[in-house]
Amino acid sequence: MKITAIRLTRLILPLDPPFTAAWDPSPRTSFPATLVTVETDAGVVGFGSGDTMDGFEAYEHLFVGTDPLQILNQVRRLETINFHGGRYWPLEAALWDIIGQVAGLPVSVLFGGARDRLPVYASCGELKAPGARADSALAARERGFKAMKIRIARNQIAQGIAAVRATREAVGEDFDLMVDLNQMWRMSGDIEAALPLAQVHRIADELTDLGVLWLEEPLPQADVAGAQRIRAATGIQVAAGEMVRSMAELNTLIEADAYDIYQPDVVLAVGMYRARQVAESANLRHRLFTPHTWSNGLGLLANLHVAAGVDAGPYLEFPYDPPGWTPDRRDFFMQPLDIDANGDLLVPTVPGLGVVIDHATVRRYTV
Ligand SMILES: [Mg+2]
Repeated sequence: MKITAIRLTRLILPLDPPFTAAWDPSPRTSFPATLVTVETDAGVVGFGSGDTMDGFEAYEHLFVGTDPLQILNQVRRLETINFHGGRYWPLEAALWDIIGQVAGLPVSVLFGGARDRLPVYASCGELKAPGARADSALAARERGFKAMKIRIARNQIAQGIAAVRATREAVGEDFDLMVDLNQMWRMSGDIEAALPLAQVHRIADELTDLGVLWLEEPLPQADVAGAQRIRAATGIQVAAGEMVRSMAELNTLIEADAYDIYQPDVVLAVGMYRARQVAESANLRHRLFTPHTWSNGLGLLANLHVAAGVDAGPYLEFPYDPPGWTPDRRDFFMQPLDIDANGDLLVPTVPGLGVVIDHATVRRYTV
């Protein structure tokens, strides 16, 4: 089988009301997405999405004419580009979509087939006042969610902890809460200093008292010793690694026992094939793997297949923060993914990734 064409379709969805992410102070009035379509000489077509794929056109010739089923070669090819250019892992997702269709199996089965569904947590993106955040958790629980992740901005620590406290008081003990400090990567142009270790230690102490399941990215990637100290001193679990750039770096972090939970996003960090290796390395050391996901529904779907295949947990991330961020907005160019009444996200049972592209919407929002 040969790849005959790779098409990038750039989409922009206007957002009204806008959405303001905790890690980015400028309100977003639109949401961009790039749909990757891979065509083959066998007529099988694969879809992927997640990162922007900016600059990929310069490398497209390296893939056209090659065999999509030789996936390790494709992963290695993508890694050579990672050194010089961007991370084009949505292409790998589209290749797995093809492989699954050729095999007649859901991609999750090719990754281990451990689960047919995963419990997810409602992953919040906006900064909300304590009362509003507590209300959002109650509404999420009513809808079936069993857990929620709350972001705390590094310049609004007290308000952030107050939101976690109000939420804990509202939901009681039978609802898991996680907290993300987002200290391990930056938006382009953000040159403010990271939080000092001593302050992070105090934050971890307070969040431990509030029964937080994990504290995410409390420190920059370089501060492995700091992460270990906070884990040892407070007993809180530390999760990290959503955007780590290479498998070698992730291996080094795992071997150093830097974190309790490793979270490379399969369409943003090191791809799907390598994420499985991360999961296996972490599991062998009695540590957890559960991928980050925030890009869009197709990125979520790629993460779901890998996570279900390798038995990730305890929860999969599910971007959800209405009214600004809903499944309909997140998945606007496809049939939206949603949880069942138990708070689980079911893996599609059809061959491939099982995405149902809404081609009319794609045409409408193509730029
Ligand atoms: Mg995070």
